[in-house]
Amino acid sequence: MSETWNSRTKLVHGGTRRSQYNEVSEAIFLTQGFVYENAEQAEARFIETGPDEFIYARYGNPTVAMFEERIAMLEGAEDAFATASGMAAVNGALTSMLKAGDHVVSAKALFGSCLYILENILTRYGVEVTFVDGTDLEAWKAAVRPDTKAVFFESMSNPTLEVIDIAGVAQIAHAVGAVVIVDNVFSTPVFSKAIEQGADVVVYSATKHIDGQGRALGGVILGTKDFIRGTVEPYLKHTGGALSPFNAWVMLKGLETIALRVNAQAETAQTLAEALEGHPALERTLYPGLATHAQNALVQSQLGGKGGTVLSLDIKGGKEAAFRFLNALTIPVISNNLGDAKSIATHPATTTHQRLSDEQKVDLGISPGLVRFSVGLEDPQDLLADLTAALEASQA
Ligand SMILES: *Cc1c(COP(=O)(O)O)cnc(C)c1O
Repeated sequence: MSETWNSRTKLVHGGTRRSQYNEVSEAIFLTQGFVYENAEQAEARFIETGPDEFIYARYGNPTVAMFEERIAMLEGAEDAFATASGMAAVNGALTSMLKAGDHVVSAKALFGSCLYILENILTRYGVEVTFVDGTDLEAWKAAVRPDTKAVFFESMSNPTLEVIDIAGVAQIAHAVGAVVIVDNVFSTPVFSKAIEQGADVVVYSATKHIDGQGRALGGVILGTKDFIRGTVEPYLKHTGGALSPFNAWVMLKGLETIALRVNAQAETAQTLAEALEGHPALERTLYPGLATHAQNALVQSQLGGKGGTVLSLDIKGGKEAAFRFLNALTIPVISNNLGDAKSIATHPATTTHQRLSDEQKVDLGISPGLVRFSVGLEDPQDLLADLTAALEASQA
């Protein structure tokens, strides 16, 4: 029956497991271990673990399993493995399947820690990584080789919001037998159809829109049953990147409201981007939902026309003007999370992307005036008034 459910029904009921008390709200199984009826049952479970059988919370837990099943249903993936953070998911997806001598092609516009894994960690273990402009399919074509084992990209990049053609890259990668791993945070599991469009593995930081209220860290890797159980699970269960049952419960309850939240946030983001585009204090207004965005056609086909919940504003006058803008905001908070109910403003050049060299920042469009703005659930007109006043203050 659940196979015929639409997304919003899956988000509320998917994966639910009830204890003998038949509770309505999902239980938090805050337990590390599980009792066996007898020694024979313990032996049998270590030989083969059934779908609702558990051994140890580093391997699996009923609350975590509810979260995994619910998000897998939404994404249209066969299976999922939940992780302690988004970075544990990115690292788990890549490291579990790669070995020395393998080749990886990655988009160069990446979240700082993703870049660190590809540039500094994988290479230390003998994996060769080629970076390309992710929006250029010819560059992907030129970079893949017969020994390319994986391609990696953020479907919508942070913080410049480039949109990458999942189906286009997947076709190129699959031609050489490479696995397509997509970090889909900015696209959100609500707007994404990444698996349907050719991604083999989808990764989320659940810390962002899935929690949606800035409380807990978490992540998830989605893919085929073979990849999740055969490749990811052995790696993660032995290296310890498991999601805590409490955090899994936060994420599980977050999924119940995610569609309502991200649709409202994307609608406000669209309103703000349209209202602010062309403002005299702005060098550029970056929002995938704008008709002027370089990949807007892809936003229509890949994301159902939804531009996401984040916009980036390049303020005239560089760092000083950007700081005046940030300090003049009264509703959004200055922080570095995103996808929260509270609007959050970030200055990537001095915080999330501080580690990059000046050349890398220029290359990636992370200019001194760039402010990333994660749109929350506040009233759109209140936000617009606050942003407009802060833009004026930025030029003072
Ligand atoms: C935040 C983020 C991550 C890392 O997630 P954590 O939960 O903070 O570990 C990875 N990729 C992208 C695109 C992100 O925005």
